[in-house]
Amino acid sequence: MHLIVREIIEGLGFDYINPDQVICFRSEGTKSDAVHARCWSLPRIWQQALQVKPHYTLEVISEKFDSLSMADKKKLLIHELLHIPKSFKGGLRPHKGYISQKIVNELYRKLEMNQEKSKEFGIRFF
Ligand SMILES: [Zn+2]
Repeated sequence: MHLIVREIIEGLGFDYINPDQVICFRSEGTKSDAVHARCWSLPRIWQQALQVKPHYTLEVISEKFDSLSMADKKKLLIHELLHIPKSFKGGLRPHKGYISQKIVNELYRKLEMNQEKSKEFGIRFF
């Protein structure tokens, strides 16, 4: 899963995101039907108190995530990565104005196109 996240960050040029500071976490046994994944931030007060850099955790719900197609997995992770603000300091972006199915689908198409291109030129991202 972290490989897919790296691939998305590099493939879409999300260069404000340091993949080493993005943690992928799998959860099991959630009761909620609606939630497939979540993006968690480490608030600044914790960064200062613990003297650590900003980190983001992308949590996926195993039972839901594993049964998705690769395309839907990527779209879900694109969605979660869009919650990370450009400042990368510990905040989170809301859905309004930043995330929609349309934006996610467009970015997914762009990702696929960029990967086709990189294959043609023999460039490997990871
Ligand atoms: Zn969301």
